[in-house]
Amino acid sequence: MNFTDLPLSEGLQKALKAEGYTVPTPIQAEAIPSILQGCDIIGCAQTGTGKTAAFALPILELLASEPIIDKEDKNDKRHKGRKKPIRALILSPTRELAQQIGDSFTAYGRFTGLTNTVIYGGVAQSKQEQAMRNGVDILVATPGRLLDLMNQRIVSLASVSIVVLDEADHMLDMGFIHDIRSIIDALPAKRQSLLFSATMPPEIERLAKDMLNDAKRIAVDPISSSAKPVEQLVYFVDRKKKIDLLLRLMDTLPMTAVLVFSRTKHGADRIAKDLNKEGVPSEVIHGDKTQSSRLRALNRFKEKRSRVLVATDIAARGIDVEQLPYVVNYDLPDAAETYVHRIGRTGRAGLTGVAISFCSNDQQDVFRQIKKIVGKDTIKSMSVEEAFKRAPQFQGGEHPYPSQKKEKPPIEDARGLSKAGFSVQSILKGQGSKKHERSPDIERLLENEYEPRNIQEAIAARLKAEGVSKDIILRTTGINKEIFHKL
Ligand code: AMP
Repeated sequence: MNFTDLPLSEGLQKALKAEGYTVPTPIQAEAIPSILQGCDIIGCAQTGTGKTAAFALPILELLASEPIIDKEDKNDKRHKGRKKPIRALILSPTRELAQQIGDSFTAYGRFTGLTNTVIYGGVAQSKQEQAMRNGVDILVATPGRLLDLMNQRIVSLASVSIVVLDEADHMLDMGFIHDIRSIIDALPAKRQSLLFSATMPPEIERLAKDMLNDAKRIAVDPISSSAKPVEQLVYFVDRKKKIDLLLRLMDTLPMTAVLVFSRTKHGADRIAKDLNKEGVPSEVIHGDKTQSSRLRALNRFKEKRSRVLVATDIAARGIDVEQLPYVVNYDLPDAAETYVHRIGRTGRAGLTGVAISFCSNDQQDVFRQIKKIVGKDTIKSMSVEEAFKRAPQFQGGEHPYPSQKKEKPPIEDARGLSKAGFSVQSILKGQGSKKHERSPDIERLLENEYEPRNIQEAIAARLKAEGVSKDIILRTTGINKEIFHKL
């Protein structure tokens, strides 16, 4: 079956062509016709199956073909000035997933004239409030911020005709279930409801029963088979030696884009710090990071400006990075099922992937449980030495990546230049003066914060990145203290 066989209008077909989609994924092939017919759906599918397009495409089709009926009281001053009522609501557990869903609606709906907005917590509410006042057809939201805006009467759900609950099991894990129920209660009773979840624990089944009406059940990519295309390895390694092992792996294997999972936020920071120190450009995302820094980290990773993204489970859910050849479980997760979600990040869309886990002594129990879920012989275990001997096996030639160990400039070079002098010379020679030529350290220093306005400031930034003392930088470059702190 091709997308052209599905009853989707010309604008959507055009957008799909532009996205390079020709064949619907199994969940799309099953869900799209049913949603178009108005059925409620309970979809058992995880990220990577194409579930976003499975609900976004029919929603866009339905909204584009429906006349707008504003059921709100036009005399109600609270909603005065609002142009379009919200007709579709998508609930997402995390900000990142919400943003990705919003981006998908924008991409698929670009020829439909339908608009969408994404709202989530952790950022100022004013822009989101303005977007609501301007009117929007599709709202993608995390539950907490949505409830906030509903209570402030900035958002009204009175005209919603389709609601989607995405990653419902994750909503449950994050303690959103009461918020979800309050939001569902505020929706019109006559509506179409779609629920997607990677797993179906009893509480999700109960929620589905309450919120859905005669739902069609669609299951794709069941948990146990999701692990198939991914080669899985485990190294039994002392906790303290994990960072060395990771660095050695990064040097030996063609690891271009690696998602590293840490059990804790603090651990994630530590890993990224150690990797950066060793010249492996790495980013971190976890719940304590601001929204803008999380988005920046994700973008830098997607743009291959950094090689490693270190994440905690919650922050990583829903992240969609194309062509992610490696996932490293620096720590095994507490819950064995989370392992399956994690390794599902690689080996997507038919690409092969490698999931490498580090198991320290204190994690043997959880490792046993993981083996029960994925199958006894699915995960190959080997000693680190053996792994390195076999390393060429993984080098398919597709992701060759040179060692990124920093070539530290010598303290004194042949011409007797000092460290600072060496840096100044290299900048004056043009190295590092153009954006794409900057070293990763300089990139980090400069990202989004302060763009040097002249060569002195560029030199100062470089020196600062190399750890030259403040006094020397101020003296040799002549920049003032204020600029120094901005760099
Ligand atoms: P999702 O499961 O919605 O997170 O989608 C996973 C990835 O598959 C996303 O990068 C989509 O852009 C991509 N994708 C979704 N549907 C298709 C399709 N029919 N053909 C090719 N890629 C797709």
